Amino acid sequence: MKVKVDRELCIGAANCVGIAPAVFKIDSENKAIILNETAADDDTILNAAEACPTQAIILEDDQGNQIYP
Ligand code: SF4
Repeated sequence: MKVKVDRELCIGAANCVGIAPAVFKIDSENKAIILNETAADDDTILNAAEACPTQAIILEDDQGNQIYP
């Protein structure tokens, strides 16, 4: 699974970091960045994406098809 953050949508709420701290980190601009998209299982990453209040986390399968949101 591929994980992206839309920096325009991210408001730095850090819900993603709370759920998957090995995958997401807040950078100096208060936006989430991807540390390591393989550092959590797919369910955990999906939970993090669903917890994002602005749906800024975009998930794609290995073929590049968007699976969330
Ligand atoms: S939960 Fe969403 S808005 Fe909050 S830091 Fe993560 S990506 Fe950004």
